[in-house]
Amino acid sequence: MYAFLPRKLPKQLHDLTELALNLRWTWNHALDELWKAIDPLLWARTHNPWLILQNTAPQRLKALCQDAAFSQTLARAIDEHRRYLDEPGWYAGQRPLNDGAQVAYFSMEFGLSEALALYAGGLGVLAGDYLKTASDMGVPILGVGLLYQEGYFRQSIDAAGRQQEAYPHNDPTSLPIQPAFGRDGAWLKVALPLPGRTLHLRVWQVIVGRTRLYLLDSNDLLNGAADRGITSKLYAGGSEMRLLQEVVLGIGGWATLDALGIRVDVCHLNEGHAALLVLERARRFMHKTGVSFQQAWWATRAGNVFTTHTPVAAGFDVFPAALVLKYARGYLDDCQLSSQELLALGRRDPTDDDEPFNMAFLALRGCAQSNAVSRLHGEVSRRLFSDLYPRWPYEEVPVGYVTNGVHVPSWDSAWSDHLWTRSCGKERWLGTVETLADTVADTDDKALWAMAAEQRHDLVNYARQRLAGQLSQRDESPQQVEEAARVLDPNCLTLGFARRFTDYKRPNLLLHDVERLKRLLTHEQHPVQLIIAGKAHPADEQGKQLIQAWMDFVHLPGLRRHVVFLEDYDIEMAQYLVQGVDVWINTPRRPWEACGTSGMKVLVNGGLNLSELDGWWAQAYQPAYGWAIGSDAPSDDEVDAERLYSVLENEVVPLFYSRDNQGIPREWVQHMRASMAQLGPQFSSNRMLHDYLEQYYQPAIQAFRRRGKDQAALACTLHAWHKALATGWDSIHFGQVESRRDGDWLHISVPIYLGEIAAQWVKVELYAHACDGFPDACLPMNAVDKMPGATQGYIFYATVAAERPADHYTPRVRAWHPEAFLPAENPLIAWQR
Ligand SMILES: *Cc1c(COP(=O)(O)O)cnc(C)c1O
Repeated sequence: MYAFLPRKLPKQLHDLTELALNLRWTWNHALDELWKAIDPLLWARTHNPWLILQNTAPQRLKALCQDAAFSQTLARAIDEHRRYLDEPGWYAGQRPLNDGAQVAYFSMEFGLSEALALYAGGLGVLAGDYLKTASDMGVPILGVGLLYQEGYFRQSIDAAGRQQEAYPHNDPTSLPIQPAFGRDGAWLKVALPLPGRTLHLRVWQVIVGRTRLYLLDSNDLLNGAADRGITSKLYAGGSEMRLLQEVVLGIGGWATLDALGIRVDVCHLNEGHAALLVLERARRFMHKTGVSFQQAWWATRAGNVFTTHTPVAAGFDVFPAALVLKYARGYLDDCQLSSQELLALGRRDPTDDDEPFNMAFLALRGCAQSNAVSRLHGEVSRRLFSDLYPRWPYEEVPVGYVTNGVHVPSWDSAWSDHLWTRSCGKERWLGTVETLADTVADTDDKALWAMAAEQRHDLVNYARQRLAGQLSQRDESPQQVEEAARVLDPNCLTLGFARRFTDYKRPNLLLHDVERLKRLLTHEQHPVQLIIAGKAHPADEQGKQLIQAWMDFVHLPGLRRHVVFLEDYDIEMAQYLVQGVDVWINTPRRPWEACGTSGMKVLVNGGLNLSELDGWWAQAYQPAYGWAIGSDAPSDDEVDAERLYSVLENEVVPLFYSRDNQGIPREWVQHMRASMAQLGPQFSSNRMLHDYLEQYYQPAIQAFRRRGKDQAALACTLHAWHKALATGWDSIHFGQVESRRDGDWLHISVPIYLGEIAAQWVKVELYAHACDGFPDACLPMNAVDKMPGATQGYIFYATVAAERPADHYTPRVRAWHPEAFLPAENPLIAWQR
């Protein structure tokens, strides 16, 4: 057991503990001076105030107590901090949006800070940004995740250009976290039954501004050695280890909220990893209310929201059925489910005993609402999941989209913060952001260009230092190390490319024609420089070779000053990069980039994007904002590489270097202004959270509450409705369609025999696919005449404009209930053939 007594600080410094344990310091840089004053070296190395407090010598603390300037800074800081915490926040004033509901956000990764590195990439950084935004806007969202003892690997590159992986230990005593205490005042532990044993989970609490993140870890001495390692690494280990982590996150996570006595209305699943929680949530609801498991499923599903992040089926989390049964067996007896019923929740075809169990399918079935993360990804996802909605047109598969956004205060530079504060005020990211664009559009050219220069300068300095560090680690000659201080040029057009090194991101598209890239970089009058960073997954040999190819390029003669590969891409490095680059390059193979967020981080700092028309850029790009490669078709490497070079040579470089007599590239600056003003607010997480609140959380909260009250009466009704429709559906049949033209109108009618099903539980529609230049169309048909002598037989009518031929239309019957999310919760549909 870790001793968990934070050191005692002198009374005058007590407030430091409160500040250090609240991760708001990751985005409130007003405090930076404070931490730096205590220990400049530790601050520079770790950016972890909590660690600084644990390690500062008593002498130094004593000196700080005597330091009047320090005390003043501290007093101001704590005042400002408490004001932030006490303010009701934007959300408090938003009725009826705000009705005291609680959202729990489940994620396998949280990337809040390098001081608490529980992430591998974009998914985690998004989750971190989301919690920070919830805090700023005052929205009651708490996070649930895992505390990894080692997290994701740290990268170094050896002399041969090969990636090496290291897994430094996350010592909980130096992390800015605390044990979470249960209602009895003791450290909260959650016990989960596993086959033949009990798994004990420790619960930790992270304070993120006004919100909380709960982390679970299995490294408890009560567990066996293997179980203690369940939460040791992120995305490493085999299938069983991965499933166990998901058991801990989903089932343990929900049990934790229950143990803490937190009443949750909405569970938001950030990717399918936490999908098991839908089972646990329903099971506990069943026990609390005494309804059946199926009824509880109907009650709780309304409060579950699933966000999918993958654009390919191979990205889904899939487990052998036997493995799932091994760990979910407890649900069979308790919930009176057969093993086939349980496994059907994660299968495309419920009757196929050989099909493995897919967590994304479970999530989709267990959540009344699902969404993708960009407009294009929405289209891709509707196709990916279409098998679960047989006979539905792709467009109607119930997966919407909310485009991701970034938490701007985490990514802006001090320079850009200053500039934005002047035009929009300090509080600009604490609410909705629609009006920011107009205000920022007024900033003058000189100020913008000066900001870009300062930021580039900071990045060049940072890159030189990192490079010197890397070279000495690699045992290069002192001469080489010294030369690092002279690489790059603070006045040179600076391109950045940093992301996961994996095939679909095409990190080597720029290397397609090495000679051409070399010429571009080393041009006499218009030189260009390039900063590269990124990790390859430890098991991805191809990704590692892509890194090696860049290392070979970097070492070509004459390029040393023009291109730098920075090792160990992480949040902190990303901050420097997105603040200092002029152009951020992204070359994914469309449509494989679900959204991509790193390009959004440059917006606030005036960086421009040059990107494939994929993910967010496919919906953001306009010539006034930056540059695009690719088209609305799948990517072609040859074509894209050619276009990438020609855009750089003929558009980017000339625009950057065409200066007026004051040395300002006026047109470039116009691009900066347009991109900052128009795209910055739009791709901020403020906009994203607002979208989730309006489009997903509000409907979820209201439906969950309606279904749950009075012993879940409405949920029981819905369940009965669902059962009745399932039994009677096959008896529906259609008669002949008749159409009659009357001037500009077509009257279409069709007899439909509903058999066992009451007319109020279906909707009849006239549907037409897009064809011959006409769009998709779907019109209601109304029952006017009941057919004599037929049980539930009606003639349904619709009148449509005659310009479209009658044979474009097909009548269809779909399940309908005003209280259900459709077709998500009941995809029954019948078509006239
Ligand atoms: C923003 C960010 C990402 C996500 O970037 P993509 O655009 O999705 O490639 C990954 N890693 C870090 C460290 C980041 O800051």
